[in-house]
Amino acid sequence: MNKFAGRGVCGGVAVGRISVFRRRDVQVKRIRVEDTAAELLRLSAAKEAALSQLREIYEKALTEVGEANAAIFEIHMMMVEDEDYNDAITEMIKGQSVNAEYAVAVTADNFAQMFSAMEDAYMQARAADVRDISNRIIKCLGQDMSEQHTADGSVIICADDLAPSETVSLDKDRVLAFVTAYGSLNSHTAILARSMNIPAMIGLGEEFLSAINDGDMAIADGSTGELTVCPDEEALAAAREKQRAESDKKALLQKLKGKDNVTIDGRRIDIFANIGSADAIGSVLLNDAGGIGLFRSEFLYLENSDYPTEEQQFTVYRRVLESMAGRRVVIRTLDIGADKQADYFGLDKEENPALGLRAIRLCLTRPEIFRTQLRALYRASVFGELCIMFPMIASTEELSEILDICADVRKELSAAGMEYAEDTQLGIMIETPAAALISDRLAPMVDFFSVGTNDLTQYTLAVDRQNPRLERFCDTHHEAVLRLIEMSAENAHDNGKWIGICGELAADTALTERFLRMGIDELSVSPSYVLKLRDKVRSLDLSGGGET
Ligand code: PEP
Ligand code: MG
Repeated sequence: MNKFAGRGVCGGVAVGRISVFRRRDVQVKRIRVEDTAAELLRLSAAKEAALSQLREIYEKALTEVGEANAAIFEIHMMMVEDEDYNDAITEMIKGQSVNAEYAVAVTADNFAQMFSAMEDAYMQARAADVRDISNRIIKCLGQDMSEQHTADGSVIICADDLAPSETVSLDKDRVLAFVTAYGSLNSHTAILARSMNIPAMIGLGEEFLSAINDGDMAIADGSTGELTVCPDEEALAAAREKQRAESDKKALLQKLKGKDNVTIDGRRIDIFANIGSADAIGSVLLNDAGGIGLFRSEFLYLENSDYPTEEQQFTVYRRVLESMAGRRVVIRTLDIGADKQADYFGLDKEENPALGLRAIRLCLTRPEIFRTQLRALYRASVFGELCIMFPMIASTEELSEILDICADVRKELSAAGMEYAEDTQLGIMIETPAAALISDRLAPMVDFFSVGTNDLTQYTLAVDRQNPRLERFCDTHHEAVLRLIEMSAENAHDNGKWIGICGELAADTALTERFLRMGIDELSVSPSYVLKLRDKVRSLDLSGGGET
């Protein structure tokens, strides 16, 4: 029996077999190198190795699939030797003193983007080839790119870390728990685990990965953050007992279904749910959420290998609105970028992705993507009570631009004889300190605010939410963040608008009283937290004053 300690990000005990998650794609880090000449020699050896692999594959393909089909590997060989491609990599290694893996990966991205932008379909298809040969070279440079393992049955997934796109691509019905060596509390993977209500723990350290094997029996305890590998009978019996106690507790909470979210002294608040996919509606209804306070629409994009069409999006939004039967549904427009990446967007690598071309900035830079989503949203608006919400707002100017685009989309739909709900509410996320500080100016322009405490904390405290080493500097109850929320609430109410909180802090019951005293109108949390929060609200009595 072997025990590893991490941090629990979603409670619950899972007992089952381990499946080690291995990555299909290359994760390349930028590393500074002193000796660029040696790096160029490494590169040249890796290219030779890649060429010899390709020669072998070509020969094999010639006999197995014929000359025409084998020709692609000839093209790959030519690409490995292409002068422009090689010059770009070499320049980067020499000019920026970076490792060869990074230079190849960035060059691959740049070339792939250039190919994708070409008119000719044949040239467009070369984007995938350049990525393919670059991955091969990176692998020859020594980077591990082994295939993802998938065991039979439900498993405890163990990984170094999981990107949101990887998490969503896993078959949720077969995941008993997530366990990662790295990761941080507010990463989207942790959020996803909470929204799927799957026990999860992070930060077990690299050593746990070398101590486990596919198929090992394990206990993953999401509340304590402890992983027990090859447990003995006693540990197994204790885990099963804990599972029973948890299900009893859940049954008790079920008694709160149908009850009001009201404090002892009569103050009411809406408790809504956060979702990332229409498949979560079942759990929203099961947990008796009053509506949806945040639908992270970007997961629709992350689950696909190409831009979801207007029709595909319309179908999903309509399904969510219809399933919620007239209850409020807040759909946030695309928040891609930073840790949420989809290859087909062809985004450049950024030095500071959290401060980069993310969310609304991407939408305003590539308005065709934004307009497609807005058309789908407005068309769906007649099937329920839709609120459209824009992420990462930092200025009144960008909000004006967004509102103009919305007006334009509505005009376009009217001209085409298509229906939309005129009373569709438009709101913004308060997740940059800038937005909170100018919330008095933003409030008159919108119908509502929703505070994204995950990013608001990251940007206010200058603490990267993805970096687990910064956790001790990330005081989620920091007075600066709470004051920004309070200021936004006052400005919203002074302008007759409602304000919710949809970041992870909304579920923190140590702050529920404070939020109620600030006058927050809605708290939106993972579906499995709705009843716990209702329980907390119903236990509070605000009549005695108290601090705000
Ligand atoms: C937030 O930032 O608090 C938020 C809800 O958005 P996300 O976590 O998706 O960035
Ligand atoms: Mg955010």
